[in-house]
Amino acid sequence: MEDIGGTAKLCDWCGRIWDEGGAVGLVLDSSAVHARDPSKDGKRLVIGCSAAHLAALQEEYRQRPFIDEELWAWQIARALITAPQDTTLDQLADTTGLRAAEIQQAMSWHRTQGQPDSHQPDDGAR
Ligand SMILES: [Zn+2]
Repeated sequence: MEDIGGTAKLCDWCGRIWDEGGAVGLVLDSSAVHARDPSKDGKRLVIGCSAAHLAALQEEYRQRPFIDEELWAWQIARALITAPQDTTLDQLADTTGLRAAEIQQAMSWHRTQGQPDSHQPDDGAR
């Protein structure tokens, strides 16, 4: 946890906007992939207006299952944004760093879950 200084912020827990203080922390989240940096995949930065609200957020994410197939599905989705239409499974494996079996598991998971973007943890539904 780290103090985040004095600019306007929105609490991920209660939705309150405030200026001074607050706390930020990282949580594990299999639905989070970074736009450009794969080393940040599976981690989400969350912000709370107080240490108590940050702790509540972190506890909520701790109780949420981390699903490898979900993370892989998002990594595949990111790779497909720039991939040519005739990309092969081997090329996709090279781009994502995933094994072919992991790509197939992710696709199978995706078929049972619907679109990965149907699950958005930041939908404000609290
Ligand atoms: Zn709050």
